[in-house]
Amino acid sequence: MAGEDVARAAADWLVLTFADWLTFCVAGCTRTDMLESQSVTWCQFCRQTPSGDHGSTSDLEPLHQLEAILPEYEHIVCSYEHLQEGGFNASLKLKLSTQDEVQEWLEAFQASSKTTWRVQKTYPNTPESIRHNKYRVDLRCQRGGRNPSSKKNTFCPAVLYLVLKKDTFSQSRKSRSNDPHIQDCLSFHIKIRSTHNHEINCSEALQYRHVSKETIKKIEKLFESGHSPSSALNTLKYDLQEEMGESYVLASADRSVCPDLHFCFRLYYNI
Ligand SMILES: [Zn+2]
Ligand SMILES: [Zn+2]
Repeated sequence: MAGEDVARAAADWLVLTFADWLTFCVAGCTRTDMLESQSVTWCQFCRQTPSGDHGSTSDLEPLHQLEAILPEYEHIVCSYEHLQEGGFNASLKLKLSTQDEVQEWLEAFQASSKTTWRVQKTYPNTPESIRHNKYRVDLRCQRGGRNPSSKKNTFCPAVLYLVLKKDTFSQSRKSRSNDPHIQDCLSFHIKIRSTHNHEINCSEALQYRHVSKETIKKIEKLFESGHSPSSALNTLKYDLQEEMGESYVLASADRSVCPDLHFCFRLYYNI
């Protein structure tokens, strides 16, 4: 091999090694591998079927139930219990590592499940809690709560508990978690009791939803290009009609994508 070839091969090897090193350094609990794909699978640590048969109907049924309401993320199902009174309890885990990612997941979940959740309890960081959790919040269905005078309150008992655990990479070697989920970067833990006592897909439920961040952004852009509240709303409705076709009637009843004029006015004067 000529000296030049040897030098080139060595340079190639160095580049490759540097790229490998870089990949190694950024590897850890990132979500790069899970964008744009939805999958709901049983947890390999919690779920043990003696036959190893994960394809039976009874095994797949809960996954299909969850797929119908979950957003496009890779969800790992640690437990699922069908409840006699209707609904289910489930415990899920995801490879998310920041509070912003958790908020994004919550936005996406509210859109995919056609439900709206309100904060019921927060957990301020204490020296003790910060050793285990980065973020924790309890949510309840917006049609629950203690306010009996609210027209939309059906005293819905559905709850959603979110915990973002510290991952192994942010802890010292000594205090590394023994939990195989954490070691596998499954740091975002969800417990859901899906026992809504009201219709979910009906237009009555949809009209009380929060206006989504995406919709707010669209309206703000229209304001920036000179639209008034009413012309912005008309444009939004027109675009929605183009986009949804026959499903427009249902979509237009969904406040998260099609707010009322009053909302547009308030947004307009807040800017
Ligand atoms: Zn598990
Ligand atoms: Zn509910």
